[in-house]
Amino acid sequence: MIEHFTPREIEAMRPAGQFVGQALSTLRDEVGVGTNLLEIDARATELIAAAGATSCYVDYHPSFGAMPFGKVICTSVNDGALHGLPHDYTLQDGDLLSLDFAVSINGWVADSAVSFVVGEASRADLQLIETTERALEAGIAALQPGGRLFDVSAAIGEVCRGAGYGVNLQFGGHGVGRTMHGDPHVPNDGRPGRGLRLQPGLVIAIEPWLMATTDEIYTDADGWTLRSADGSRAAHSEHTVALTADGPLVLTDRT
Ligand code: MG
Repeated sequence: MIEHFTPREIEAMRPAGQFVGQALSTLRDEVGVGTNLLEIDARATELIAAAGATSCYVDYHPSFGAMPFGKVICTSVNDGALHGLPHDYTLQDGDLLSLDFAVSINGWVADSAVSFVVGEASRADLQLIETTERALEAGIAALQPGGRLFDVSAAIGEVCRGAGYGVNLQFGGHGVGRTMHGDPHVPNDGRPGRGLRLQPGLVIAIEPWLMATTDEIYTDADGWTLRSADGSRAAHSEHTVALTADGPLVLTDRT
């Protein structure tokens, strides 16, 4: 079922969105060469407690996860693309890290992801990250009243394919509200002018993610982390966005 939310409800989602945006900014500033992924999870746990927020991940146990996630943030490193399970790994110079973070505050969920390189970045990694960011911006811009859902998908796919990357359609964006993953599914490629008619009140996570030289993934032995099939690096950019009568409103803005 696809829910539409009133302007008052969307207003009520703002604290969760602001917290997730600020938390990702804080973590991005604090994380560097020598940071352990378990320290990131511990810090995110602290931030959640200080804000009186509730983790969406810790008890999360969908069909594609081997066991409840057990951590509060996804930390995907290098060939890790999505759902990276924090483990005892210390970040090294040049590692590409994606943080994906979702909480609820007052019963409303926000979900956002950011990718960056710790230490010295390669040109290829910067291009991969920048492409997911541009694809996210294009997807957000395509979320307009009267449009169609796959306008968003098409805008994302065009940026990604235009930069020479393949697009994996197994995981994409999703509805957000009182739960983390609702309808509709938002594929990261598609034909414009199709799909759900876009109306104010829709709230979705838009989340382009890319792997440098493949569009195929496999699940790590940890039961959660999705890695690129060929070991190439991955990046992921995500915001929770509400469609208002005036257009898209980014709830998880970090600026
Ligand atoms: Mg997310």
